[in-house]
Amino acid sequence: MKVGYHCEECEEAVWLAVPRAELVWLRDRIHVAREVARHVQSGLDGWIVEGMQFLETHAGHSVIVTAKRV
Ligand SMILES: [Zn+2]
Repeated sequence: MKVGYHCEECEEAVWLAVPRAELVWLRDRIHVAREVARHVQSGLDGWIVEGMQFLETHAGHSVIVTAKRV
């Protein structure tokens, strides 16, 4: 299974190699992650950067955590 974010309004998705719970965590705490990103010099994990970019692009849209078989 692959998990990722899906924007129901734009019909766009991003697939990330982390457990579903991590994606739910990031989506519900995007404001916290944004603060952390501002203070971390060495960079965040790749999936967080990718996930945050998607969430920022689709801020205010209906973004769900989704899964698919691969
Ligand atoms: Zn969208």
